[in-house]
Amino acid sequence: MYAQVIVDVPIAQPLDYSIECDGAVAGRLCVVPVGRRERIGVIVATSTHSALDPARLRPIRRVLDEIDPLSTDWLALTRFAAEYYQHAWGEAAIPSLPPTLRAPPGPRFASTLKRLRSDAAFAASGVAPVVPQLNEAQRAAVAAIDAAFAFRAFLLFGVTGSGKTEVYLEAIARKLAADPQAQALLLVPEINLTPQLQARLRQRFPGETIAPLHSGMADGERTAAWLAAHEGRARIVVGTRLAVFAPLPRLRIVVVDEEHDASFKAGDGVRYSARDLALKRGQLVDAPVVLGSATPSLETWSHARAGRYALLQLPERARGAAVPPAVELIDTRLQRPVQGLAPPLRAAIEAALARGEQALVFINRRGYAPVVACEACGWLSNCPRCAAFAAFHKTDATLRCHHCGWASVVPRACPTCGNQDLRGVGQGTQRIEEALRAALPGARIARIDRDSTRRKDAASSAFGAVHAGEVDVLVGTQMIAKGHDFRRVTLVGVLNADAQLVSHDFRAPERLFSTLVQVGGRAGRGGQASRVLVQTRFPSHPLFAAFARFDFAAFADRQLEERRAAAMPPFVHQALLRAEARRLDDALAFLAAARAAAGDEAGVRLYDPVPMPLARVAGMHRAQLLVEADRRPALQSFLKRWLQDLREDPPKGAPRARWQIEVDPQEI
Ligand code: ADP
Ligand code: ZN
Ligand code: ZN
Repeated sequence: MYAQVIVDVPIAQPLDYSIECDGAVAGRLCVVPVGRRERIGVIVATSTHSALDPARLRPIRRVLDEIDPLSTDWLALTRFAAEYYQHAWGEAAIPSLPPTLRAPPGPRFASTLKRLRSDAAFAASGVAPVVPQLNEAQRAAVAAIDAAFAFRAFLLFGVTGSGKTEVYLEAIARKLAADPQAQALLLVPEINLTPQLQARLRQRFPGETIAPLHSGMADGERTAAWLAAHEGRARIVVGTRLAVFAPLPRLRIVVVDEEHDASFKAGDGVRYSARDLALKRGQLVDAPVVLGSATPSLETWSHARAGRYALLQLPERARGAAVPPAVELIDTRLQRPVQGLAPPLRAAIEAALARGEQALVFINRRGYAPVVACEACGWLSNCPRCAAFAAFHKTDATLRCHHCGWASVVPRACPTCGNQDLRGVGQGTQRIEEALRAALPGARIARIDRDSTRRKDAASSAFGAVHAGEVDVLVGTQMIAKGHDFRRVTLVGVLNADAQLVSHDFRAPERLFSTLVQVGGRAGRGGQASRVLVQTRFPSHPLFAAFARFDFAAFADRQLEERRAAAMPPFVHQALLRAEARRLDDALAFLAAARAAAGDEAGVRLYDPVPMPLARVAGMHRAQLLVEADRRPALQSFLKRWLQDLREDPPKGAPRARWQIEVDPQEI
């Protein structure tokens, strides 16, 4: 007997081995020799003959029969991911395993597994469930999802606080009740949101094991959760994008919360979209998939508009007054900001605090200032390794590059001319925090961004303080915009929205609108009257007008019209070939050669190689080549042929460059 085995190497086909032990069936984890190393593999098929010379095939070293075989739909999912995103099957499958199972096991494997299987960290809690009375729109949404026993995609569209999560929970409850072994998968965009949601799931499903899966877990924890899912003990898996690959033998419903969120797209390796794979997974197991958002991606929105996804709407906030916050635009050309804060915003914060309410100030930039400048000679704090500025971090007096991690002590004097008067230009969270402290003596001010939350548990304790009312003003980045159900926040200030309005990326308006709705949605969740103040130099921009009405549909329909007219996604399909080299010319020349080698393919267009928007990172120059097609299958078959040639027969005479492919890129 022979086995075809996938391993984490960039070889297109599974590898053949001979079978000389028991238990070698499809789906089984195994240890196989690859070159001189032993690696973990997954058997994807067995057969009685091999196309290769049987005498030269090496045997599988060991079959991990302590672990049940992975299901055929898990194999189908990882295979689809590999093919769609143009990687080898093993490159998609093996990295999705928990770290403990990615390397050949040591001698104590059996006892480790035993311990992990008895890990009760996320087992049932056993208190009475808390089930609110759903409103009419929620009940209609649940009924529609509940009625789907085959694959069907739903878009649950509702502003933050409209009760989408309650719909997910009830829909999951119904599926779990209908089948004592049914399992549910719930994907969330951020690690920070998993504990909160986990707590809510625990309240709602006190009798069930709920397994979290995200990259912030310790190896043992993650393996224990993976096993609980795979062995059917966990009925619900809640996790970030990597959880889309969780083995769930009896999956009956998939939910993707905040489906538009950029974090569902993997940033390295196989650049999969967990949202898109969640849909594929629903197809493979023939189960409903619920995508939820207040600001769906335009891809999802166009599917819903075309009737391919069932549109479920929650038009109003579930709790308290049904009025959304009042949006006001502050024209910063007239109301000059002082230390980043325009006078009307400052006054509004003071008024909120005087009423004993909380304010939230959002600025999507961490650090104190994005750049340090010498006014005498024009020196700027460039990162030595990137085509970007190093930001000033006042808390530890450093310059830090947010792209490559380079850090250095802030120079006392200008490195070029010796001038001692160096200034931070522009605002970041630290500077706004400082300005708020100066403007509001006695107020309790907290900052949440990646720097303030490096310590383990720092983020959850900071959010805890806000929820407990121990904070008057919270300043922070994207981290404070998502998910949190703050009850006392009645005022949200948005700084620096303009950067996104003038971006080169055609998705920037979509992202800005979504951010505004997210962060604006933090206001008034306790039912009080609330305001969102946006500082901008373009107060008459139509995007703001739509935002002021919280009218996503109008915004999205208009964007889709523009995209259609300009032949941009989702009306065309894209892929990016990226190359990096020590010299920009080499990266560009490599791409030009790759393009020349591509030949013509009907319905597929290749553009000129160009430097990436951030053209140098960590010393490497980067360039990209956009590939576009009107139809997905044409793009897929072209990429397959082209990339196989590039791998096996790199263009002759072209400089060497490292390259990678991204299908459906989100940033161009
Ligand atoms: P979303 O996920 O859309 O932001 P949630 O499901 O988190 O909304 O609901 C927002 C708040 O309203 C939560 O505190 C939730 O418990 C509450 N809530 C949701 N549905 C109802 C309901 N039908 N009746 C009362 N409160 C509700
Ligand atoms: Zn100088
Ligand atoms: Zn850098």
